[in-house]
Amino acid sequence: MMPLQTTISYTGEVSGVGLHTGAEVRAVLNPAPAFTGVVFRRTDLDGFEIPASPLHVAHVSYATALVSRGVMVATVEHLLAAIRGCGIDNVYVDIDGMEVPILDGSSKVFVDVLRRAGTAVLHAPRRHLRIKKKIEVADASKHIAIEPSDRYSLDCTIEFSHPLIGHQRVEVEISNGAFERELAAARTFGFLDWDEPLRKKGLIRGSSLENAIVLSAEGMINPEPLRFRDEFVRHKALDLFGDLALLGMPIKGHVTAFRAGHALHNALVSKLLRDPEAWAILED
Ligand SMILES: [Zn+2]
Repeated sequence: MMPLQTTISYTGEVSGVGLHTGAEVRAVLNPAPAFTGVVFRRTDLDGFEIPASPLHVAHVSYATALVSRGVMVATVEHLLAAIRGCGIDNVYVDIDGMEVPILDGSSKVFVDVLRRAGTAVLHAPRRHLRIKKKIEVADASKHIAIEPSDRYSLDCTIEFSHPLIGHQRVEVEISNGAFERELAAARTFGFLDWDEPLRKKGLIRGSSLENAIVLSAEGMINPEPLRFRDEFVRHKALDLFGDLALLGMPIKGHVTAFRAGHALHNALVSKLLRDPEAWAILED
């Protein structure tokens, strides 16, 4: 049987503060028809729509933000990762502020809400993006590449000279609940000495030990243990998966990321889309 597009069966809701703005926000996830994709609707601005698409990515370094005609929705990556990771193709995200709540700093709460909302099958064929040619982007010692494969897989490496991190690598094949099991619960992280400079720039106003792993020079400040021994690289893979979800459909391709971040992820997406020989949209 031909795979079909999906949406959620019921609405779901999350509230909390935005990581960067510190503002309290409420996001309601609603079912959407086939070919909608993920569309944010700013309920505080008469329902102004911002589609989750590479065309609307704004260049923000510490999170991925979408902008349409000057209207923004920021820190979308953990929610987009959860939606794609749960196999949901179409959803409206009705949000009453400019930043998606950070919650526990991972995709776990979004996944729980999406699971409770259930999956509904729509009468339209599901499409996927097949990678036909290797595309690479590099910036000094950081690089990222996507290449042809019959599966969707991520190979992610980070390096930080910190006793809890060092060199970490994770390889994940995105199939059969792998996102939920292996990536969804991995939290974002930051270093204590980043705190002051970022706050001076007006960023991370909502950050706390409830929504990030905070690292000191020797260890971590949070009282509770890590969720995975290599939680740091798993979170980077979650971010990568969320940024690639902007492509709007499952991918058949293999992604290798070495010390990459949001800027490089989005540069890869742009470079890929600019080369019409590098990809094709196919029905399963
Ligand atoms: Zn993140």
